[in-house]
Amino acid sequence: MMRCPYCKKAAHVRTSRYLSDNVKQSYLQCVNVFCSATFRTLESIDEIIRPPAQTEAPAPAAVPVLPPVLQDRARVSQRH
Ligand SMILES: [Zn+2]
Repeated sequence: MMRCPYCKKAAHVRTSRYLSDNVKQSYLQCVNVFCSATFRTLESIDEIIRPPAQTEAPAPAAVPVLPPVLQDRARVSQRH
């Protein structure tokens, strides 16, 4: 919510979109029916107060290494 720059009443967001991960552009309309001004704003992240807690990544599950399956195709061709 942001105040209307003309009548200082509340203005509501009608639509918005992210221009980047840190910047959002919004179109607002004043709720005062006698004003109804529309304007566009930019909202951005100014400072990270506290980043998310570091979580230790789980160790990858041990995958057994199997020997490659060998196919003796030469022997198959000799069975004719
Ligand atoms: Zn207004």
